Amino acid sequence: MSDTLSTLSEALEKQRERLLPCVHCGFCLPACPTYNRLGDEADSPRGRLHLMRAVVEGRLDPGSEAFGTHIDRCLGCRACEPVCPSGVEYGTLLELARETVAEHRPSGFLTRALLWVFSSSLRRKLFFVQSRSIRGLGFASLGTMLIPAVGPFKTAKLALAMLASTAGWTRLRTLGLAKAGSADSTGVGDSTAAPSHRVAAGSRGRVAVLIGCVQEGLFTRLNRATVRTLEANGYEVVSVSGQDCCGALHAHGGDLEQARTLARVNIAAFESVEADAIAVNTAGCGAAMKDYGVLLENDSAMSERARALAAKVKDVTELLSAAGPLGGAEVICTVAYDHPCHLLHAQRVEQPPLAVLAAIPGTEVRIVGKADECCGGAGIYGITHPELGGEIGRDKVAAVRACAADAVVTPNPGCMMQIGAGLRLEGALEGVLHPVELLDESYRRAGYYQRGSDA
Ligand code: SF4
Ligand code: SF4
Repeated sequence: MSDTLSTLSEALEKQRERLLPCVHCGFCLPACPTYNRLGDEADSPRGRLHLMRAVVEGRLDPGSEAFGTHIDRCLGCRACEPVCPSGVEYGTLLELARETVAEHRPSGFLTRALLWVFSSSLRRKLFFVQSRSIRGLGFASLGTMLIPAVGPFKTAKLALAMLASTAGWTRLRTLGLAKAGSADSTGVGDSTAAPSHRVAAGSRGRVAVLIGCVQEGLFTRLNRATVRTLEANGYEVVSVSGQDCCGALHAHGGDLEQARTLARVNIAAFESVEADAIAVNTAGCGAAMKDYGVLLENDSAMSERARALAAKVKDVTELLSAAGPLGGAEVICTVAYDHPCHLLHAQRVEQPPLAVLAAIPGTEVRIVGKADECCGGAGIYGITHPELGGEIGRDKVAAVRACAADAVVTPNPGCMMQIGAGLRLEGALEGVLHPVELLDESYRRAGYYQRGSDA
C-alpha cells in the first residue's frame, strides 16, 4: 500500500466491520437523492462504498478525481442507512472518506472559509453580529429580490435568501386569531417571560440545552422557546457555560480532528452540570452529539465519557413528547410537515415532532410528499453545490407548496433556511417554523407564561 493511503485506509482497516457488511444488494439505491437524479452508480451509496473499499485495497488513489467527486456529491443525508438490511453504518464511513478527500484535495474556498469562521467562538460571534445587521437592515430581503440569479451572483442571492429566511415569521403571533374570532391578538403572556409551571417545576428531571452556533446566532427565539416549553412541561432547565459548537459542520466538511476537539470541550462542559438529559433543537447537531461515542472511540481517555454523554442527548421533541406534551391554546392554521434527514434517518426520530404538533389545538398537519427525502440543504451543500442542491431544493419547495399550508414546519434550522430560501426565491408566502415555536405560541396564548418573571 502506498504512502498516500493515509487516514481512510488506516481508519477503514480499523473499521472493517463497518465496511464489510455491504452485500451489494442495492436496496439503498432508490432512497438516494443523488442517485435518483444523476443515475450514476458511483453517486449511489453502494457505489460510494465500492470506491471506499477500492481505496482501502489500494486499487484507487484517494486523491483521484473520481473518489473526490463522488464523495463530495454525497449529501450525507443518511437516507441509505434505515433501508440497508445489513446495517451498514454509512454516515461514519462517509465522514472518514471526507476526511481523506480533504487531506488530498483542498476543499472549495467557501467550505474552508466557513469552517475557519466556525472554529473560533470570537469569529462566529462577529460573523453572526454582521449577519444579523444585514438581516435587520433589510439588505438580506432586498438582495434576495434584486440580485439577478446569474453567474457568480447566484450564490450570493441564495445565501441572502437563506439569511432572510431566518427572521421570525411575523404572522405567527396573529395566526388563526381572526378565524377563531379571538379578541386577544396580543396573547396573555409575554414571550420573554417564564412559564407558570402548570406541571410541577423540575418534576421531569434536569435538562441542559445545547445553545449551538447558528441557533444562538440567528434563531435566538428558538432557543428561548425551547427553554420555555421544556420548563412548562416540568423540566428543570440548567444553563451550561463553556459549551461550544457541536462539531457537525467540521465533521461534514472532512475536519474530524476539529470535530473531536469540539466534542471534548462539550463533554467536559455538559458533564459539569450533571443533567439527566441534553436537549438539542437542531437535528444535525443532535445527530453529531449522539455520535460522539463513535467519533472518540479511539480516544481511550474520552471514549467512555463520550458514550455516556451521547446517551443523554435527545432531540427537544423527544423530551416534549415524553412529557405529553402539555396541551396549549388554539392556533388555527394548516402546516406542512417535513422530516429533517438528521432526525428521521440519522436519529430515527419520527413521531415526537408530530406529537408536539398534535398538542396544539386547531393546527392541521399535512405531511409533505416525499417528506423523507433531503431538502438539499445538508449543512452548506445548498451553497457549495448550487446545481444539484438547487434541483433537490426546488423539488422540496414544490412538494411543500402542494400542501397549500400556511407554513412549513421542520425541526431543523438548516432545513428551515434551505426551504425558506427556496420559498422566498419563488415569491411564496408560506412561513417557516420549528414545531417548538408553534407550541410556544400555543402556550403563550394559553397564558402559561407569566409577565415579569425572569426569562
Ligand atoms: S442496502 Fe446496504 S448492503 Fe445493500 S448495497 Fe446498500 S449499503 Fe450495501
Ligand atoms: S447519504 Fe444520502 S446522498 Fe449520500 S449516499 Fe446515502 S442516501 Fe445518497
